Amino acid sequence: MRIRSLEIQGFKTFPDKTVLQLQNGITAVVGPNGSGKSNLSDAVRWVLGEQNVRTLRCTKMEDVIFNGTPQRKAQGYAEVTLNIDNTDRALAFDKDEVAVTRRYYRSGESEYLLNHVAMRLKDINELFMDTGLGRDGYSIIGQGKIDAIVSAKSEDRREIFEEAAGISRCRYRKEDSERQ
Ligand code: ATP
Ligand code: MG
Repeated sequence: MRIRSLEIQGFKTFPDKTVLQLQNGITAVVGPNGSGKSNLSDAVRWVLGEQNVRTLRCTKMEDVIFNGTPQRKAQGYAEVTLNIDNTDRALAFDKDEVAVTRRYYRSGESEYLLNHVAMRLKDINELFMDTGLGRDGYSIIGQGKIDAIVSAKSEDRREIFEEAAGISRCRYRKEDSERQ
């Protein structure tokens, strides 16, 4: 599984449609302070279903929508798409190309799409579970995350190991069936 590209529109510092193509190997993002580098990793977290506004460095979800500048008016919605190469079927979805989209309107309405078909957040979470890339994955290590892992309570740390070992899905299924 590999991220091919990230498409952003109306999200934080990106009012216009911006496409970031990721080639094989390492991609580095450079730019002046406040130019939107961290907003790119926020966009990845967000499209994967992040619900915690603090993790997204916002105070409310509406803050992810481009809020205007003296030259540009604010946008009505934010949209991010993550295009993933799934030729190795690391995601349990029988397509070589997987596109996950999240859209959020100022009205508070929100949508998730998988290859242009509307999905529930639950479906997106389940798709990425145990891959390390999902909302609770460890593929995005933010500033301070290492400290948090080292000083975490043992139960919290176990969740990280469970995701890495690929058993989060089993635990989730068990807990989900117990809830029903
Ligand atoms: P640094 O080098 O300091 O880490 P950075 O390149 O990572 O900077 P970001 O944190 O990605 O910068 O971007 C911060 C900028 O994003 C701030 O200027 C902030 O005003 C802007 N920003 C955040 N949310 C929005 C929004 N909804 N609309 C417009 N701009 C926004
Ligand atoms: Mg930054």
